[in-house]
Order: sequence, then C-alpha cells, then structure tokens
Amino acid sequence: DSSLDTAWAVDWLRRSAAVVSENRMALIELDRAIGDGDHGENLDRGFSAILEKLDSEPPLTPAATFKLAAMTLMSKVGGAAGPLYGTAFLRMGTAMGEAVEIDSALLAAGLAAARDGVVARGKAEVGDKTMIDAWTPAVDAAISAADAGASPAAVLAAAAAAAESGAVATDPLIAHKGRASYLGERAIGHRDPGAASSAMILRAAAQAGGA
Ligand code: ADP
Ligand code: MG
Ligand code: MG
Repeated sequence: DSSLDTAWAVDWLRRSAAVVSENRMALIELDRAIGDGDHGENLDRGFSAILEKLDSEPPLTPAATFKLAAMTLMSKVGGAAGPLYGTAFLRMGTAMGEAVEIDSALLAAGLAAARDGVVARGKAEVGDKTMIDAWTPAVDAAISAADAGASPAAVLAAAAAAAESGAVATDPLIAHKGRASYLGERAIGHRDPGAASSAMILRAAAQAGGA
C-alpha cells in the first residue's frame, strides 16, 4: 500500500490505548523508579478518554483524528506527558492538513512535526533521558526511509524500531529534564518512562490496519 487513511489513524489510537492499558503497571514501575509513579495511570486515563471520543465523534480525516487525541490528552492528562503528547498529536494533525491519504513523505513530515512540538514545549535534546530519545531517532529513521522510497508501512516499521532502540538507550543516561533530573546519578540504570511509552505508541502505529 502506498498511503494511509483515517481508518489507520483511528486504529493507531485504538492500538495505542490497548498497549498503554496492557503496560499500565510496567509504565508505573518505570516512573516509580525515577519519577512519581503516575506515567502509566496518566496515559491509560488519557487514551481511555480518546476511545470514548472516537466512538462519540468519529473523525473524518487523519488530521481530525490526531487533533481529537491532542485535545483529549491535554484536557485529561496532567503532568509533563499529557501536554507533551498533546502537542505532538496536535502538530502532527496540523502537518497533515486536509489530506485523506497519507503518503510516506507526509507521514515522515507529520512525525517530524510531532517531535518538533515536543521539543518546542519541553526543550529537551537527545541524551536528556526523555521521550525525545525515542522520538528523534524515530523521526530520523522515518525521513531516511521515506527519502529512500519506502512505503508508509516500512516508514512506520523503521520509526518503531528506532524508537525502541532509543528507549533502551536511555537506560545508562543521567536525566536533564523532567522529574528524573532531580535524581542525578541515581537515574542511571533505569529506562525513561516517556521514552518507553513513545516506543510502544510508535509500534502501535506500525501495527495499525493499513500500515
Ligand atoms: P510527570 O513527570 O509530570 O509525573 P509523566 O510521569 O506522565 O509526568 O511523564 C514523565 C515523562 O515525561 C518522562 O519520562 C519524560 O519522557 C517526559 N518528559 C518530562 N519532561 C520532559 C521534557 N522537558 N521534554 C520531553 N519529555 C519530557
Ligand atoms: Mg510521573
Ligand atoms: Mg506526575
């Protein structure tokens, strides 16, 4: 397939809700180690609310799907991750405009816009032990794949694999942003919860119907 549609976008959110729900305790445990222990609960609450909205107000374009997710995450999820994920989905939706079919180039551009939104809001750089350590390698891989002529499915597979590697690579880092930055060297040896959840959500995109 050479493009992705609204059904893919909706399925991505549904699969994200499922993976966040399945990994709720795992994400709580990661955040207990270097944060305040609420990351799994925050995301599960937010994505559950997204599922309700998808049923009550079915979106008609990929952009509308991502904007629905953004508004819900911003209103239902406090802390750092809610506004950051909300900004990511909002910027991705804006980048996709009125398109009903997302090709590889637009997909890569949307992922880049999402990442740029997180950076604009949170000011984290790669190596700061945040979700950016998953998103930036994912975006780099997506752009490389799209430039090389890969299908959207292959772009998403490359992004998901890079995000997973990026999340694992946060283990040995000291955090420079977010709550984990208060721990100094005590953060070493623990995976960043937001990088872990970002990898799960990007894997969900690659598994969604149509990809
Ligand atoms: P809180 O820390 O407010 O309890 P969460 O636990 O839901 O919020 O989310 C924590 C995650 O948010 C971290 O693991 C990290 O990935 C991400 N995060 C925190 N601050 C930033 C930032 N400035 N930029 C990017 N990501 C951040
Ligand atoms: Mg937390
Ligand atoms: Mg919190």
